[in-house]
Amino acid sequence: MPVATQTETRTFASFNPATGEVLREFVCASKDEVNAAVARAKAAQPEWQALGVKSRIKILRKFQRLLQERKSEVARLITLEAGKPLGESLLTEVFVVLDAARFCLQTAYSVLRPQKVPHGSPIMKAKSGWLLREPHGVIGIISPWNYPLSTPATESVAALVLGNAVVLKPSELTPLVGLKLAELFYAAGVPRDIFQVVIGDGDTGAALVDAPIDKIIFTGSVATGRRIAEAAAPRFLPTVLELGGKDPMLVLEDADLDTASSAAVWGAFMNAGQTCLSVERCYVHRSLYPQFVEACVKKTRELHVGNGADGTTEMGPMISERQLRIMESHVEEARSAGARVLTGGKRLAEIGANFYAPTVLADVTHKMRVVTEETFGPVLPIMAFETEDEAIRLANDSIYGLAASVWTKNRARGAAVARRINAGTVMVNDLLSGFAISEAPHGGFRDSGIGRTHGRLGMDEMVRVKYVDSDRLPRMKKLWWYGYGPAFAAQMEGFIDFLFARGLAKKMTGALRSLAALRKKKSI
Ligand code: NAD
Repeated sequence: MPVATQTETRTFASFNPATGEVLREFVCASKDEVNAAVARAKAAQPEWQALGVKSRIKILRKFQRLLQERKSEVARLITLEAGKPLGESLLTEVFVVLDAARFCLQTAYSVLRPQKVPHGSPIMKAKSGWLLREPHGVIGIISPWNYPLSTPATESVAALVLGNAVVLKPSELTPLVGLKLAELFYAAGVPRDIFQVVIGDGDTGAALVDAPIDKIIFTGSVATGRRIAEAAAPRFLPTVLELGGKDPMLVLEDADLDTASSAAVWGAFMNAGQTCLSVERCYVHRSLYPQFVEACVKKTRELHVGNGADGTTEMGPMISERQLRIMESHVEEARSAGARVLTGGKRLAEIGANFYAPTVLADVTHKMRVVTEETFGPVLPIMAFETEDEAIRLANDSIYGLAASVWTKNRARGAAVARRINAGTVMVNDLLSGFAISEAPHGGFRDSGIGRTHGRLGMDEMVRVKYVDSDRLPRMKKLWWYGYGPAFAAQMEGFIDFLFARGLAKKMTGALRSLAALRKKKSI
């Protein structure tokens, strides 16, 4: 993979996607600069770990307070660089980070507390074991542009509070938000070498993966995720890959039509459809199909599209011409293969170069890319199904498995359908909000990635697990050590029968437990 040396510099600019205005020009960090950042982080990390969880919580609580106080400034910057409506910048970015910080800071103690491992086998009773969780060291985080604050910030808070150093490579489309995150961490007291931002493009990201980091947390496309997995494999670099999705929405015949159609419209067009968890395909029971499609079209036509900084805007621009072209090609291919474009289906050049009208497609099929590939734009393709089994089969007919939603007034039925869907998150009667539930893990099956962020499982990704065992009888030689002799195999057979035949192991464990209880009672 080509990476710049110090003699060749690559530059790029950050733009406002609503206006095309250049916000700032940047030089990509070179391989040497990335390596130097990682070396500084490595040198500083032991002191950060030694500081202890209580002190780290104190610092990160200050970060949380600063973010809350400076929410408007941060949200305005997100809208400026990523285009989303101001309200979404507050809700899906600032709020999500503040609540994730609450969870991480509350949970950090219990993650790092040694965990006793009770031994079930009677012959291992004389030992005691613990799980110790310790930071990996330096965690590299590579993030995309669509959630430029909430993705790297939630991961960074979890990594930092557990004692890791972080080197972040934000998307080249949203570097200013990445730098704002660093500014807030530094103002809170996170040492500069413990959280660093390396600015640059994909080659800078590749340099970070190649640097001597201890783990990589990547969020982005499947194609880049695959490249990162390949680069990480030769040295077994632990990876978390949060990749793309083609999330289905299943509207069963007993769903509330008004609620489900509003959800479909918000789920498809929020952040201009540029959300890994957006509704990328919608399956509706045949009996509701005409009314559902009509309601979606009506609600979509009412959306106010414009500059996200304008308080009344409900859908902003797409991030780039590249993303617009993918969207256009999916819609055009579907249209020429027989899909009906009921609203939208065109650019809104009169507002700005990156605007595309929110689009509802009916009569799409699984032969169209708009149903099989991630579109990542404001399009809602709707299909009819006849039976629950068919809906589940269609939902599972995908290389992705990030999230899904099921809509029904019967919650037990919703839960039963959810069990049969291949996705990391399935929501019944809601969508997308799983990302804002700080206790819930986030991540996908199949091509949507490996590992988890958020929740306790996400915290567990930020530590390595060590098992420590200590024998209470330090002077006793173990029965199974050398000195086998000719009868050893026969003795072992007898021993195995003694333990496992006719439930003896259970009886013996019970007897040992009673003995232990008796000893405790008598203090012997
Ligand atoms: P992308 O893969 O193009 O880029 C993501 C990041 O990777 C950027 O910072 C980029 O500079 C960097 N990068 C590019 N090539 C690299 C390489 N070879 N080595 C290391 N880093 C490299 O993705 P994107 O367009 O920024 O984001 C959109 C994608 O992200 C969509 O597919 C979306 O579904 C996915 N996404 C997933 C989640 C999730 O949690 N599962 C969340 C948000 C976005």
